[in-house]
Amino acid sequence: MDQIYVNLWAVEYQQQYYLIYFCLNLALPPVFKFNRGAGFKSEVMKVLKFGGTSVGSAERMKRVAELTDIPGKRIVVLSAMSGTTDQLVKINEALSKKNNKEAATLIGELEPRYLNTIDALFRNEEYTGKAREIIRGHFDFLRSFTQDVFTSEEEKTVLAEGELMTTEIFQLYLEEMKIPSALLPALNFMRINEEGEPDMPYIEKHLKKELSKHLHTELLITQGYICRNPFGQVDNLKRGGSDYTASLIGAAAGAEEIQIWTDIDGMHNNDPRHVPDTYPIAELSFDEAEELAYFGAKILHPACILPAQKMNIPVRLLNTLQLEARGTVIKQNAEGGSIKAVAAKDNITVIKIKSERMLMAYGFLRNVFEVFERYKTPIDMIATSEVAVSLTIDNNTYLDPIVNELKNYATVDVETNQVIICIVGDFLAEKHGYATKIFNSLAQIPIRMISYGGSKNNISLLIGAGHKKEALMALNKGVFSNR
Ligand code: ASP
Ligand code: MG
Repeated sequence: MDQIYVNLWAVEYQQQYYLIYFCLNLALPPVFKFNRGAGFKSEVMKVLKFGGTSVGSAERMKRVAELTDIPGKRIVVLSAMSGTTDQLVKINEALSKKNNKEAATLIGELEPRYLNTIDALFRNEEYTGKAREIIRGHFDFLRSFTQDVFTSEEEKTVLAEGELMTTEIFQLYLEEMKIPSALLPALNFMRINEEGEPDMPYIEKHLKKELSKHLHTELLITQGYICRNPFGQVDNLKRGGSDYTASLIGAAAGAEEIQIWTDIDGMHNNDPRHVPDTYPIAELSFDEAEELAYFGAKILHPACILPAQKMNIPVRLLNTLQLEARGTVIKQNAEGGSIKAVAAKDNITVIKIKSERMLMAYGFLRNVFEVFERYKTPIDMIATSEVAVSLTIDNNTYLDPIVNELKNYATVDVETNQVIICIVGDFLAEKHGYATKIFNSLAQIPIRMISYGGSKNNISLLIGAGHKKEALMALNKGVFSNR
């Protein structure tokens, strides 16, 4: 048989793909044109996450549809409509108390929210009907739990309903709008391991498998927050976990950018709830953003930084209500050399441990830390002297047993209702003057504990809760006023 020699080039021009080939023995036109989305470009370019308020009404969903109608392969991660997860938590509480009547009432309260959204969202009767059917199915499923014995494993199944309903409705709306799209079921690829941490190899493998089913679709919709555990049961990434989903998907798919869309124009330099005239920070490094998210900036789930950082994918925080705002970009090599922001973390407990046995001894701190480890309680701040160590925790679940164990070898004092004020920036060791600036601003405020030098991005101070607002205001004046 004759051999066929083909010389092939693929080019992209004005959002069209062209195959150009020279072939000696085939009588075909030398240029072949593909439409965008013909399966040529299958790599994910962007992951866009919209939180509960951004999909909280028909109006807001329409806006998300507009914002995501952009070129390129993209995965849109949605949270449940605002208020849904809170209501599902209440439903679970009622069901666990065998208060099935109350659970049914709570389910009945949630249903009209979805039905009204559908009525306002869809134009055509056929789609309204389809959407109502989807929602009815989900609410019948929720009601089925009120008919039977309820186990704690089923709680996670109930919690998953919010994201499932919201994404299904949104994707159906895209269909009505004739915007080509498909649903990627998060439960088919998002998974946590025995430690409750994301199982990255599994996620990568199964996300790719799901994506391969939609080579020709550029807009893919998936659920934030929900996942499966190693036993295949429905689970979740904990409250606020949709940001984490977006970042894990971005990392697994090797996306170019992860966008987190909210109602605020980025991370602010100070807490807008307590301080007037705050402003969005243009650029943050991954480390700075992680500290800020952990220590108080509510805009972003702190866990969501790490996967993006590992793969060096920029995370952009954008505002659905103010498209022209630049927001904040979190990336490697962000502009450095300054104090970027302050944040406060509430409900901190300080534990002061004092023991003469610590004097010139080793192994004492290990004993102390082991107690916290046994009770899986993370420590935020530490300060030590020769005979004492103070540390802070933000989870008091095991406070009593922890204190009882520590009392075996030390005197222990506990104070609750403290606040960590965290100052984030790029404090290069060679530069001086940062500490003076900070402490001068706080001259009037009693400081209980200081942590400086733990990282080059963070200076933390502990103060009583009563001084929080005053401290944030004072820092605003002393640190940011002459920027
Ligand atoms: N819907 C979940 C929650 O309210 C996840 C999220 O919104 O990120 O916590
Ligand atoms: Mg959130």
